[in-house]
Order: sequence, then C-alpha cells, then structure tokens
Amino acid sequence: MNPFKQLTHIIFPPRCAICGDFQWQGPFNPEDSPNPICHDCTSGFNTIDAPFCTVCGIPFNSERIENHPCEDCLRTKPFFQASYAPYRYEGPILEAVHRLKYGQKTFVANAVGPLMAEFVKTRFPLPEPFLTMPVPLHPKRLRERGFNQSLLLAKQIAAAMNQELDFFSLIRPKYTPPQTTLSKKERQKNVQNAFRLKTPDAVSKKNILLVDDVATTGNTLNECARVLKSAGAEAVFCVTLAKAVL
Ligand SMILES: [Zn+2]
Ligand SMILES: [Zn+2]
Repeated sequence: MNPFKQLTHIIFPPRCAICGDFQWQGPFNPEDSPNPICHDCTSGFNTIDAPFCTVCGIPFNSERIENHPCEDCLRTKPFFQASYAPYRYEGPILEAVHRLKYGQKTFVANAVGPLMAEFVKTRFPLPEPFLTMPVPLHPKRLRERGFNQSLLLAKQIAAAMNQELDFFSLIRPKYTPPQTTLSKKERQKNVQNAFRLKTPDAVSKKNILLVDDVATTGNTLNECARVLKSAGAEAVFCVTLAKAVL
C-alpha cells in the first residue's frame, strides 16, 4: 500500500461499503488492505448455485437435476440468450442495492462491481469482444436520482474485462412507474416499447452484455434484448447483481 493511502486509512479508517462498520477490529496495521465489504456482510451473501435455468437463471429446488431451461423459458423463449445473477436479492445484497439506489451511496458500485465482473468471467459463455450496456433510465428518473446505478456497475465490469462500454445508444424515452410497484402482469405491459436505440448500427452483429442491478420478472431485460436483437445484435447476455427468487 502506498504511504498516502496508508495515511488516509489512518485518518479515515475504511468502513464496510454495505453495513458501514469499521473494517479493522484489532490494532491498526497499515499493511492490511481490507476488502471493501466486511466479513459479516460477505458471509451473508446467498449465491445462486446449480441447478438453475440455463436461460433465466432461476435456481431449481432439487439438487439432483442438471441445469436446464425452465418451463417458462421453454414456453416463451426470451430474447436474451441468458440472464444470470450471482446472488439472491436478500440480506446484505438487498441492503447494498438499497444503499446504492436510494441511499445515493455510489461507492457501493465500486465494491460489488468487481464481484459481478468475476461472476461474468466464470459463469457466462460470452464470446469476446462484447459490448457492455447498462439498462438506461428515463431522463426524468436520472435527474431525480442523479446517476444510473446500472451504468456504475457496467463501468466496473467493462473495465475489469477490458471491453467496450456503450451507455449512449440504448435509450429509455418512455417514462414508466417503477416495476416494484406493479403486479407480474402489469410489469410486462409497463416496459413495452419503453426502450429505443438511438444508433442501431452500434449493436449490429455485436455480442452484448446488458447490465442491471436487480432482475425480478426479467421483463425489463427482455424488452431491452428485444430492441437490441431487432437491430441486429448477434447475442444478448444479461447480468444483474441480484435476482429476486420468488
Ligand atoms: Zn458489512
Ligand atoms: Zn428460465
């Protein structure tokens, strides 16, 4: 650790990005380079492990079966090839998303972004090069929040994997109420035609990694994927930090 960083760590002891607790319990050791997330929070992360749906990523209850497409994905094939998340949307991960999105704690993205990048490297059959794109916010929501949490995460992934980031081509011209306030049926309708490509050429023949914070029904990601595919995208893969497992 460089001396400047050591000094700032003495003046501002690092806190966990999720729960805010101080990272050092014992005597101060400037050689310690703590993880931005504390041990308690990390051990409370619930990962989504096999067996899971190879398309939408939902985990299956039985441990004895292989990964395979779920019934929903077989019945209505999504526009994306696959949509995976490393964690279930609960516990410290839910807290992390809330701090990031509603608590304006943008540094949370720096702590969880690298975990998502690591997950993409290991889980996704994603051909390189690929274009990393965040799910866009409507300009009104962007003004209210001040930042797009999905862009912060996408930036981390693109940088860690040395891939191009495009947060300009896919736009959200339709203002819609938050998906969380709606029923399952209403959610699909809500995001219908909400997205558009400003520069369709940008995605033509490209492999896309679409990034969002949380997937619940997957309607938002699927609608983005539909727009990208209709503009000639080769394949669309989606990654979210968390998936709500109902
Ligand atoms: Zn913590
Ligand atoms: Zn599925």
